[in-house]
Amino acid sequence: MKEQNYLDCLVGVFGHPAAENPGVVIQHAAFQAMGLKLWRFLTIDVEPEDLEDAIRGLKAFKMRGINCTLPHKINVLKYLDGMSESARLIGAVNVIVNDNGKLYGDNTDGKGFMESLTSAGIDVKGKVITLLGSGGAARAIAVEAGLCGAKEIRIVNRPHGEERAMELVNLLREKIGIQAQYIPWTEPYRVTPDVDVLVNATSVGLYPDVDAIPNVELDSIHPGLFVQDVIPNPLSTAFLKEAAKRGARCNDGGGMLINQAAVNIEMWTGRKPDKEVMYRALEEALS
Ligand code: NDP
Repeated sequence: MKEQNYLDCLVGVFGHPAAENPGVVIQHAAFQAMGLKLWRFLTIDVEPEDLEDAIRGLKAFKMRGINCTLPHKINVLKYLDGMSESARLIGAVNVIVNDNGKLYGDNTDGKGFMESLTSAGIDVKGKVITLLGSGGAARAIAVEAGLCGAKEIRIVNRPHGEERAMELVNLLREKIGIQAQYIPWTEPYRVTPDVDVLVNATSVGLYPDVDAIPNVELDSIHPGLFVQDVIPNPLSTAFLKEAAKRGARCNDGGGMLINQAAVNIEMWTGRKPDKEVMYRALEEALS
């Protein structure tokens, strides 16, 4: 007789808002292609004040793991039993593995970002990188890029976030030992010719505000520049379209999303998913 097992293997994402997060599309495509019929990825809207209950629920449902997105990546740290060294350095996690009630966190955003740059033929070693924003994504990217040998990282952020931006600058200088500076974002940011890679690590341009563009002096974007957006929805942001018009090489946030999701799937299932399948599913969902 065939084995009877109808127990779902649950993973998912906690976010707020969560409805427009396309993670489920790529995860389901991956699970299907891997023949993992019982695996389900749940998109769960968790209010900030309900995070503790949500973590209790995760354990009660014996979920195998969860992704954390805005605004939970930092607040969730206090519920973890352990975390990776890079997550500790970044001070935020985007993925949790539940090992029989013990929660282990990691941060795969920066790793996904680095893989995406590498696939586009960019080696950050010796490069000057400007990051727009100093939130969770910027922090993960800055730490990984620093660990991979970037020469200098400049953090552009509005002055009300100066404390957070300076904390990141000091982390890069003191813990990673690279040059770093904070640039107050009070007027359109002018890209200087010595910048090799410009990253939009803000949430500007994210669905549904798809026409929004980060406050950059667009005509300062030069053809030698590589412009990376972290926005995964839409894939082709208004910012990337403007940068491409000015001759810059551009890379969308889809690759970063797929790469980090692939690492997460491997952590949960112990198997590598097919990234091509995942990217195609994302493109189809967002077209
Ligand atoms: P946070 O809330 O931690 O940080 C948001 C950042 O955006 C802050 O620096 C904030 O600056 C800045 N920002 C927001 N609005 C504006 C604005 N109008 N002008 C200037 N700066 C602004 O978010 P995360 O870092 O976690 O996420 C940022 C984006 O990255 C999201 O859109 C998310 O979808 C995307 N992301 C993509 C991933 C991928 O795999 N492609 C992975 C992770 C995140 P301030 O301090 O001034 O408010």
